[in-house]
Amino acid sequence: MSDCLFCRIISKEIPAKIVYEDDLCIAFEDINPQAPMHVLVIPRKHIARITDIEADDKELVGHIFTVCGSIAASRGFSGSGFRVVANCNADAGQTVFHIHFHLLGGRLMGWPPG
Ligand code: 5GP
Ligand code: ZN
Repeated sequence: MSDCLFCRIISKEIPAKIVYEDDLCIAFEDINPQAPMHVLVIPRKHIARITDIEADDKELVGHIFTVCGSIAASRGFSGSGFRVVANCNADAGQTVFHIHFHLLGGRLMGWPPG
């Protein structure tokens, strides 16, 4: 999808600080970090929102969570803790319509989220 910001990051048309990539997903630093660690983990496949995830995507979404855990562990947050957040549509504050998992860590997180 040439008009999708994150597809353009995947195709390297738009630069990003990529911290991990494989056949299924890529991870890069959020441009406006909300915590000392704020990485976005996204599938290479364009899926606009959580409600567009299909049954065939189960393995892909599971894989993304293993990648989140690996990145958090590699940065030393597996003991202290971290958060994975995915916003869906307007009320949750979704602004980019290519699913992404915010991986946040390095500070105490409040609950409930705002
Ligand atoms: P959402 O609000 O959709 O859950 O999250 C979108 C995220 O994408 C935000 O945290 C925002 O800072 C990040 N973002 C928006 N544009 C860019 C960009 O061009 N590059 C990077 N690396 N992150 C972006
Ligand atoms: Zn996309």
